[in-house]
Amino acid sequence: MKKSILKTLQSTIQGDVFFQKEFKEFYSVDASSYKIIPKMIVIPKNEKDVINTVKIAKKFKTSVTVRGAGTGLVGSALNNGIILDMKNFDLLRLAKNYVTVGPGTTKGRLDKKLEEQKKFFPPNPSIGSFCSVGGMLGNNFSGSRSLKYGSMIDNVIEIAFIDGNGKKVILPKNKKVGKKILEFTKKIDKKRFPNVTKNSSGYRIDKVKSINDTHKVVIGSEGTLGLFYQQS
Ligand SMILES: Cc1cc2nc3c(=O)[nH]c(=O)nc-3n(C[C@H](O)[C@H](O)[C@H](O)COP(=O)(O)OP(=O)(O)OC[C@H]3O[C@@H](n4cnc5c(N)ncnc54)[C@H](O)[C@@H]3O)c2cc1C
Repeated sequence: MKKSILKTLQSTIQGDVFFQKEFKEFYSVDASSYKIIPKMIVIPKNEKDVINTVKIAKKFKTSVTVRGAGTGLVGSALNNGIILDMKNFDLLRLAKNYVTVGPGTTKGRLDKKLEEQKKFFPPNPSIGSFCSVGGMLGNNFSGSRSLKYGSMIDNVIEIAFIDGNGKKVILPKNKKVGKKILEFTKKIDKKRFPNVTKNSSGYRIDKVKSINDTHKVVIGSEGTLGLFYQQS
């Protein structure tokens, strides 16, 4: 007999797999006014769990929707397939002029760490400290300092993500994938993009000008081009 998606996930995932009514109810809402009951919730423990969830979902033709802190106002963290809660990936490593963060790291924790070094991360959402870095990337948010410092897309130097086949990609480091993105974006007339300081609408193909900024196309893609993960 064929194994169900739930049984397959339960026997593969090292983290948590929930299907009970209470969990489905909790993950069926976010800060928006929408409600969608998911099939199940996966809270991955490690990279392998994220990769396996994507592969299993693909096999069973089920959607995977990542949830950061669920503070978005348009219901983009909701769906009727698998909800992947990235809260366990909260890496926070400070270097001299950059910081390495996991998708589950909250903006509040990041701010606190940077303050200790008398530094700050420019994008500042109105929701304040509660949202996650994954959600900030997913929506390419900007905030009140954006005229001077730009949006998320202008403040990120490298991104690690798991693609739809369950493969880990790091951009712009992975030049093979980068070249493909660059070739594709060259075909699009960038002059047709609006000349505005804030744009979180659609894929930001206009921002991909060289092999060194291919990572920008996944910022603002709301989980549709890959699931933001963290560096090892
Ligand atoms: C288009 C848009 C632009 C916005 N711009 C601003 C702004 O400029 N200023 C402001 O204050 N607020 C803005 N917001 C609201 C703000 O982005 C959210 O409140 C906050 O960023 C969401 O963070 P969260 O952790 O709660 O993410 P969630 O609400 O949980 O998720 C938000 C989106 O990001 C995706 N996502 C989350 N984690 C990952 C991940 N690891 N990998 C891939 N995708 C992931 C989700 O699937 C979802 O699509 C914007 C919202 C939208 C929809």
